[in-house]
Amino acid sequence: MRGGRRIRVRGQVQGVGFRPFVWALARRFGIEGRVSNDAEGVLIEARGADLDAFEAALAAEAPPLARIDAVESAPAEVAGTGFEIAVSGGPGAETRVTPDAATCRDCIDEIGGGGRRAGYAFTNCTNCGPRFSILRGLPYDRAQTTMAPFEMCAACRAEYEDPGDRRFHAQPVACPACGPRLWLERDGAEVPGDAIAQAAEVLRGGGILAVKGLGGFHLACDAENADAVALLRARKHRPAKPFALMAPEARIARHAEVSEAEATLLRDPAAPVVLLARRGDQLAEGLAPGQARLGWMLPYTPLHHLLCDAMGRVLVMTSGNLSGAPQVIGNDEARRSLGDIADAMLMHDREIARRLDDGVERIGARGRMVLRRARGRVPGTLPLPEGLGARQVVAYGGQLKSAICLVKNGQALLSHHMGDLDDALTVEEFGKADADYAALFDHRPEAVAVDLHPDFRSTRHGAARAEAEGLRLIRVQHHHAHMAAALGEAGWRGARA
Ligand SMILES: [Zn+2]
Ligand SMILES: [Zn+2]
Repeated sequence: MRGGRRIRVRGQVQGVGFRPFVWALARRFGIEGRVSNDAEGVLIEARGADLDAFEAALAAEAPPLARIDAVESAPAEVAGTGFEIAVSGGPGAETRVTPDAATCRDCIDEIGGGGRRAGYAFTNCTNCGPRFSILRGLPYDRAQTTMAPFEMCAACRAEYEDPGDRRFHAQPVACPACGPRLWLERDGAEVPGDAIAQAAEVLRGGGILAVKGLGGFHLACDAENADAVALLRARKHRPAKPFALMAPEARIARHAEVSEAEATLLRDPAAPVVLLARRGDQLAEGLAPGQARLGWMLPYTPLHHLLCDAMGRVLVMTSGNLSGAPQVIGNDEARRSLGDIADAMLMHDREIARRLDDGVERIGARGRMVLRRARGRVPGTLPLPEGLGARQVVAYGGQLKSAICLVKNGQALLSHHMGDLDDALTVEEFGKADADYAALFDHRPEAVAVDLHPDFRSTRHGAARAEAEGLRLIRVQHHHAHMAAALGEAGWRGARA
């Protein structure tokens, strides 16, 4: 038996099509052995003549949503013939879930083509689509997502089971025959006909449309129609807070300055709202009164692509909520709380498991800055400077723009942005997220860090948990926490003597 190698790949390598990618590489390089997921990432046992090239290609050609932190290999005896994708084993295997990702080029082409997914608003594959927003529990497989009620048709199942297909083990795989359905609703009743065409009609007529998206509902209107923008402001009771905009790249460039770095950020699979300087054709001042920059995002789901294409104008896409309250995610909830704001609702029957706002980012003097970590960036970790994060700690942050931070194994896992804790529903969301992230990260803190302010809801939550579980409670002065967080994010290792 020839010697082989045991190759360990660490990073964001689960739920991103990594095992079928390894399988295809192994075929290309004539490698025998197996690949599996476990608690540490992906494990490959490989034997063949071209192991160096195979190993180099693992990092160089990784799938679009993968992030490789390390590839470590050691000599090992590898038995068996052929190359198999092994059943994952051990505790912690298959528990990872990656962030939601914007629709990939292949899926956009498929929606615009003549195949069975032509015009289908829920098209996705291993390289794109919903993940965290549809997750109900772990491990991440279809039965634990809001896709569970949709039984795969034979054609989708064949793709799902074929390692050579880009939908191999893509949990939300769907098509018009078996997947979620889209419709337009007025006054609680479904309007028969083409939902997208009718939704575009509402927008063209200056109306307000509620759109069920990935991490919640949006309120949409024609951003090039000042009256529609004013109507949305009046109905939403939101006099001045900027509205986010959605349009394809070419259309954004008519109204905003887009540098190379900003274009790259717009096209990131996280599809954040990117703050861009105004230029060229001026849009209504009412979109963002007094702001030099407008927030822009590209369409990031098939539904958005279809709507933007049908509309052919810039859309306002602002969070569908009542001022101060969290974004609406349920259909009945939308009918209740957005019914007075929206003239019609673009609805579907795939449930949203988690509220995830759109992320907000910008390019600053030193590169990408995250202003609001949300959809597309969670769950995800930040590496901490060496020497930090050896112990498990949970930190609960301030009262405004709340988020939770879990530290473990030298990494910080930041929760999604949850908004201000003045609102009872947001507080409820905060408690739910706390339990959620602890389970996802398999987190068992030995200490709880809270703001020094005794009356912040986040402080009270942390103090109560510390007391209930007998954990050490650390109170941190607010501005000290801001500074330390900034230093940590920048990787500052401390002064050297
Ligand atoms: Zn795709
Ligand atoms: Zn199907």
